[in-house]
Amino acid sequence: MVSCTSAFHFHSSCSGFPRPQQQFVNHRKDLQLLFPFEIPIFLRRLHSFHNVTSSLPLKKIANMLHSAHREYDPFPLASRYGIQPSELISGVCCVQCGFQGMTSIYNGWGCQQCGHVDEIAHVQAIVDYFMLIGYRISNKECRHFLRLDNIQKVKRLLGQLRIPFEGEKRGRFYIANLKVIRELHDSKGPKVTK
Ligand SMILES: [Zn+2]
Repeated sequence: MVSCTSAFHFHSSCSGFPRPQQQFVNHRKDLQLLFPFEIPIFLRRLHSFHNVTSSLPLKKIANMLHSAHREYDPFPLASRYGIQPSELISGVCCVQCGFQGMTSIYNGWGCQQCGHVDEIAHVQAIVDYFMLIGYRISNKECRHFLRLDNIQKVKRLLGQLRIPFEGEKRGRFYIANLKVIRELHDSKGPKVTK
């Protein structure tokens, strides 16, 4: 298997890499790896290339490609790489010093290692959860991941982020997708209120 998440595939026996500086390990003898400059040569050598274009109008091929297009979604990364969620270190990370386990304080999150105060540090932690563990998170799972034992506060934090949800009370799950992750990642998020 190729240990790179951003490779793309031409067919079952060939993969390409968007950037030449990417590092990879190829353990598959039947898989040919290509760097960007090698891709045009590879495509020209495909024997079936001319047959396909002669039997199908180019516009039809373009429409088929367009309708079949799916945005590449590598998440959740833990299951993709065989990592158990229990192996991941929970807690809100301090952007200043990297300490994992900021404490919820009245005006946000406080770092007990460097003293940094961050109003929105939980946003990145929730994004991390979606990317690492899965697109669904309950209040209980969020409390565990943020190391914050306060049902109401976690409910408020998740609500402020306007993450779509389904279910009520204990059965409620907040559900993300690539778009939600992107918006959370790009947003500064609301301030934490006690
Ligand atoms: Zn810190």
